[in-house]
Amino acid sequence: MKRATHTTVQISRLQAKLSRQVKHLSIRLGLWLIVLLCACSAPSASDPIDQADQQALSDVAGADSQGPAPLRVQRIKLGEHSTDATGKSPKVVFDLPADVTAIVVHVDGPDEFHYTLAALTRDAGFAMIPQAWLDQTSLPDACVGPCQNRIVAQRGYAAFLFPNTPLIELRPGLHQIRVYAFDDARKPVATQVEIGVDFVRSTEVSTTLKLPMNLCFTGAKGWNAVNSVDQQRLQQAIDFAQTILSAANIEFGPIRRFDVDPQGQYIATQKPVDSDLAKLFESGAGLPKAINVFFTDRIIAAGAPPGANVALGVAGGIPGPPNEVGHIRAGVALSLHIPQGQPDLLGVTLVHEVSHYLGLFHSSEPGPNGAHDTLVDTAEDDPKNLMYWSLSEQSLQLSHEQIQVLRRSPWLVAP
Ligand SMILES: [Zn+2]
Repeated sequence: MKRATHTTVQISRLQAKLSRQVKHLSIRLGLWLIVLLCACSAPSASDPIDQADQQALSDVAGADSQGPAPLRVQRIKLGEHSTDATGKSPKVVFDLPADVTAIVVHVDGPDEFHYTLAALTRDAGFAMIPQAWLDQTSLPDACVGPCQNRIVAQRGYAAFLFPNTPLIELRPGLHQIRVYAFDDARKPVATQVEIGVDFVRSTEVSTTLKLPMNLCFTGAKGWNAVNSVDQQRLQQAIDFAQTILSAANIEFGPIRRFDVDPQGQYIATQKPVDSDLAKLFESGAGLPKAINVFFTDRIIAAGAPPGANVALGVAGGIPGPPNEVGHIRAGVALSLHIPQGQPDLLGVTLVHEVSHYLGLFHSSEPGPNGAHDTLVDTAEDDPKNLMYWSLSEQSLQLSHEQIQVLRRSPWLVAP
């Protein structure tokens, strides 16, 4: 892929890209086929951290500053909090250590509600998620225009990676989070949520990071944990995916195989909570901590004609719940069906959906008004990019910035 190498070229291209995004009022996100509308605004300054926040800090765990070398990933629990009738939680404060280069904020609540971030700010006044964005839209599903670091609301358990764009840089110090909860009608709800943050420390790109993966067999195509070892199609798909991830120096491992609930053979995504898909992901409960990859007969998206196979795969989130198995969003589902006359795209779909799960958005969404990611080195409407919205055998490339995002995932294990 051709990359802009001069800084000013990158910046001007970035500005052009962003201004186009501001003009675009519609976006189609991933294979969920959800149409989202998003109003746009300029980022606003954060509230200063007041005395109450300082007091709250005493209840918040911080990173150890002494002792053995810190782990690559450290989970900080910020406790249980209530959202009120406005859907918003109080400000929750955490202290970001200097050696942390990425964070994943996660929000766990009742499965019937959706969760997003009303704000994420740091005391220097910089808003990673501007406080005003929810006031200017009736669609809290995604913050695309006002949020340079794009976030997508998720049901039951939401996770948000920072940074997922070079436009955002983490700095140490006090940060404030405010969570927003809403129902299917997009009305705010009062509920209880648990909030946490995973601190991720960067690893030299020369260091191979391991990605544990559970292959979960539903009985589709007769594959199971035993005979799948001899399935050439599966091995070729894993090899293909591994070759692409090697560009990021990420290696699958360990790869384990399990048989799961055969009810998950036919997967429909119409109903997010009680759907086959949610049940399928829940059937991964009790498996070792790893990305659960489920092999299914077909994946039918909302609005598709009966029997149609419109989705090659689906990921439980962008990113998916970090270090969770058995949750309604914990996993990646792949279809083993090959439409007549079409090539087998199992390998590219595997690595595409896993990359969503680790935190990558599509490089470009479909249509003349389709949004583009906020990475500076992904060409627009480039079908050769792995994260292009429509997959083909040519979807092979990861840009430098995409690799940076992938390597921030808490799922990855350092040696
Ligand atoms: Zn996708």
